[in-house]
Amino acid sequence: MTPFPHLLAPLDLGHVTLKNRVLMGSMHTGLEETGDWNRVAEFYATRVRGGVGLMVTGGMAPNREGGVFPGAAGLFTPADIENHRIVTDRVHQAGGLIAMQILHAGRYAYGKDCVSASAVKSPISPFVPRELDEDGIEKQIADIVAAALRAQEAGYDGVEIMGSEGYFLNQFLVTHVNRRTDRWGGTYENRMRLPVEVVRRVRAAVRPDFILIYRISLIDLVPDGSTWDEVVQLAQAVQAAGASILNTGIGWHEARVPTIATSVPRAGFAHLTARLRGEVTIPVIASNRINAPDVAEGILASGGADMVSMARPFLADPDFVAKAAAGRADEIAPCIACNQACLDHTFSGRLTSCLVNPQACHETVLRYEPAGRIKSVAVVGAGPAGMMAALVAARRGHRVVIFDRSPRLGGQLNLARRVPGKEEFDGLVAWFAASVAKAGIDLRLGVQADVADLRGFDEVIVATGVLPRDAGIAGQELALGYAEVLRGAAVGARVAVIGAGGIGFDVAEFLVAGGHSATIDAALWRREWGVGDPADVAGGLVAPAPVPAARQVWLLQRKPEKPGRGLGKTTGWIHRAALQAKGVKMWGGVSYREISARGLRIERGGVEEWLEVDQVVLCAGQIPDRGLADRLAAAGIAAHVIGGADVAAELDAKRAIDQGARLAAGL
Ligand code: NAP
Ligand code: SF4
Repeated sequence: MTPFPHLLAPLDLGHVTLKNRVLMGSMHTGLEETGDWNRVAEFYATRVRGGVGLMVTGGMAPNREGGVFPGAAGLFTPADIENHRIVTDRVHQAGGLIAMQILHAGRYAYGKDCVSASAVKSPISPFVPRELDEDGIEKQIADIVAAALRAQEAGYDGVEIMGSEGYFLNQFLVTHVNRRTDRWGGTYENRMRLPVEVVRRVRAAVRPDFILIYRISLIDLVPDGSTWDEVVQLAQAVQAAGASILNTGIGWHEARVPTIATSVPRAGFAHLTARLRGEVTIPVIASNRINAPDVAEGILASGGADMVSMARPFLADPDFVAKAAAGRADEIAPCIACNQACLDHTFSGRLTSCLVNPQACHETVLRYEPAGRIKSVAVVGAGPAGMMAALVAARRGHRVVIFDRSPRLGGQLNLARRVPGKEEFDGLVAWFAASVAKAGIDLRLGVQADVADLRGFDEVIVATGVLPRDAGIAGQELALGYAEVLRGAAVGARVAVIGAGGIGFDVAEFLVAGGHSATIDAALWRREWGVGDPADVAGGLVAPAPVPAARQVWLLQRKPEKPGRGLGKTTGWIHRAALQAKGVKMWGGVSYREISARGLRIERGGVEEWLEVDQVVLCAGQIPDRGLADRLAAAGIAAHVIGGADVAAELDAKRAIDQGARLAAGL
């Protein structure tokens, strides 16, 4: 008996039966824009083979003005239709079902031709949208219907009409953007006319068994957003207009509340989907921060949804469903919701991939083929770089031994997992441990391997990681290292953190949290970020009520800019806002003079002052730990040096894992 009976149960939509309750949610990968449609097709087909019940493509623009950015993918020409047919054919051959998302960005379209309900600029775009007149609105509807028809012609099994996240249709729903006084604005009846009309006309145009998913915003998290009564009214109207399924969206892109980052509690918004489910009769899909089969099963078993949507988890592991079904859930590579290789890439114009799985979106170019000659491989260092190299080498058939002087595997991941809001790292370390064990790798923990131990291996991989940089500050022997603090060293009521990189921010969050993590307490998390109930307040926004900081923290750097500029593109603002809410003083342009029993003497803006703190914590970056690599070189033993031992600057788990995987793919 499977532990996931609800997740794996089929879902009868009347005209078609889905093989399970798992929807792979829409993701913009950038693959379509490469023009390599074989690669696009392989991305989706790989996930069909991994067991997904129904998948939704990245958003396709219905017209040029609705594209998220100039040149955004869409289905405009007969050639486009033929390209998309490559995808749908491959998906169908693999036994899957796929719907195309129609995404009209409205005022989020990054271009001067963008359009919306009213000429109200979004805070996340420099462009003021053009207010559509009656004919303009009719054109948008006609273009969306035409896109649905082209999707049908291209072989898709359905479409998802994007009506959430603050995009075009969502913009018409709320007075936050819709200031119109004609029949498309004013009363809610009028404001919801556009999305309902779109669904009605698409349904009328497509064949009866074509799946029509409408993605509805359950909580806008912007001022003057929808009320809960309005959400229900829209859901019922969309159902009556012919939608087959309601998918759910949380928060507009401009919202200042995180909705998918790793510090958001797992299934943190699923209670709203459960509430909506009682108001409609078509299937309802829960989404946001669902990344493990037990979480998904819990939602379905409690009657909270008919399906669950997961998107990034299928980048981390395309075989998520198959592994859950086969009783191998511990082998599912977990999405840690870091955004580092997916959304951060998307928003900087790079192809999407995954920190945990460098093959994601590179299925045709990064392949782990069986090795031509089986070799003995020694890996020194069981951090992310070393473990990934070992796993890929073992998967290819090599005989692998891992050495690590620590009694546990994980390297620096074991520090990250102690930071409140980074609990997902627990799952990543557990996955590495389970995978290393199942791969038959000879894991020698608590063993300091040196030159003599490594003679005789066909390949030696040095992944010995990093050492803290010597900050060279007078009196620094009185300071604590970040690792000591994260491992639980006693700290007082006033602390200065030297260095405001990723680790400085992590340490500051650790210090102010005082042992409590809102990420594992959804009610507390909602209070801290000001997430209310849309039934009480339109849009679901209330005043944030952060728990007071456990101590006063100064987070310092020498660069004059604002601390945190180098953090992740889509997550840096969350870290800055979290520390701001806890009263952390984040100062740039600081020179360090000395550390003494009195505290830290600094100079800032030409003025010297003492920060009278109980402790100073050094988070001043890293240097490569090349001791072993140098000794091997001196002994004439060739070795591959990867991860922090190779280059420490701007090292993160993404680069370490990617480097490990690529090296081992070629051994
Ligand atoms: P880092 O990002 O390179 O930051 C080092 C900090 O130390 C900077 O603020 C730097 O700022 C300061 N610094 C450098 N040399 C110094 C010196 N001699 N004396 C005093 N201060 C000095 O390194 P990290 O914070 O150790 O993080 C390492 C890597 O882990 C990062 O690249 C990051 O990608 C990754 N990481 C990421 C996250 C995340 O949230 N995504 C979290 C943890 C770690 P100034 O030079 O201006 O003083
Ligand atoms: Fe998840 Fe991070 Fe991979 Fe994105 S990069 S899919 S957030 S693990």
